[in-house]
Amino acid sequence: MDEKRDYYEVLGVERNAAAGEIRKAFKRLAMEHHPDRNPGDLAAEDRFKELAEANEVLADPQKRELYDQYGHAGPRQAGFQGFSGVEDILSHFADMFGGFGFARGGSGGGRARVEQGDDVQIEMTVSFLEAARGCHKALELQRLVSCKVCSGNGGKAGTQPVACGTCRGRGQVASHQGFLTIATTCPTCRGRGQLLKDKCDECRGSGVERIKESITVNVPAGIDDGQTLRVPGKGQAGPSGGPPGHLYVTFQVLEDARFERSGDDLYTHVSLTFAQAALGARIQVPTLDGDVELAVPAGMQPGTVQVLRGKGMPNVHGRGVGNLAVRFTVAVPKKLTAEQRQLVVELARHDPAQPAPEASGRPSPEPKDEPKDEEEGGFFFRRKKKKR
Ligand SMILES: [Zn+2]
Ligand SMILES: [Zn+2]
Repeated sequence: MDEKRDYYEVLGVERNAAAGEIRKAFKRLAMEHHPDRNPGDLAAEDRFKELAEANEVLADPQKRELYDQYGHAGPRQAGFQGFSGVEDILSHFADMFGGFGFARGGSGGGRARVEQGDDVQIEMTVSFLEAARGCHKALELQRLVSCKVCSGNGGKAGTQPVACGTCRGRGQVASHQGFLTIATTCPTCRGRGQLLKDKCDECRGSGVERIKESITVNVPAGIDDGQTLRVPGKGQAGPSGGPPGHLYVTFQVLEDARFERSGDDLYTHVSLTFAQAALGARIQVPTLDGDVELAVPAGMQPGTVQVLRGKGMPNVHGRGVGNLAVRFTVAVPKKLTAEQRQLVVELARHDPAQPAPEASGRPSPEPKDEPKDEEEGGFFFRRKKKKR
């Protein structure tokens, strides 16, 4: 899996090849190794898959940049998982191969078409920090896979399926309506082109079996709540040996009390005492990489926002890192000791703009039934996160 060849080498182009060169090289090589031109040739099929993957990365400026910088891990980190198989590639490049003049399963193609298995959707919960850093998460999945006894063809070991008599192995039958010839999936073999003489004992001819499988999901750094990742080929096996469907993982990202997220940017707030705000201080600010020290200048006004560049969330597609906006608030004590009160009165007396309050030294009335503090997150006036 990790012994992948260099994508430039796969396509036979220079590292600084222009986009047009890459496209041309891919078209030429893909035509040469196309499965329809090399039926049954597994080496050609592997080469075709390799070409499609190399093209998929190098033809996309973003993915290409990631690849140039980090090798195969770059695009993978950004969520690129390659293709599950030939069918997946062909449907992906349908336009391009259509242009090549290859007909898949059409009346002229002569190649039986098999059904793809169903997709599987699951939800996965990750913590805020797991989403920020990316992680690998294992999960147990009940799914249908190809029967290992008959490799999915459903036939008894040692027996060969026979060509379907109805469609003569083509998987499709033609009906005529006036001058039109309409091809439909063969009802006898359901498009396989073959019929079983003796059924596999293990799967009774279905070609699939239900297993419990442990799958590791590569959670890309920067994934956001509600986003979905496709894990190719991890859906249900196709009936009668068809390619498997895909697994779709939708993430639920748990909240972190310290941060609010908007796209790739994060917001946090730090509460200063009046003395810290007035005199200046060195204070600790939470970031995804742990607390960092910030110097607060003397005379810091409540509501001031300081932006820490590159301290936000990594972009899930690998396009840089967001910022962290730190908003300062100043906490006003709700209760003062007699001594503190005296000092504050003293302070006020020195404020030329304000008339001095009575300095009786009488304790301030106990705050009772005080109104609830504004929700902390409300500082940003943008709490829009829906609760599920
Ligand atoms: Zn079987
Ligand atoms: Zn048939």
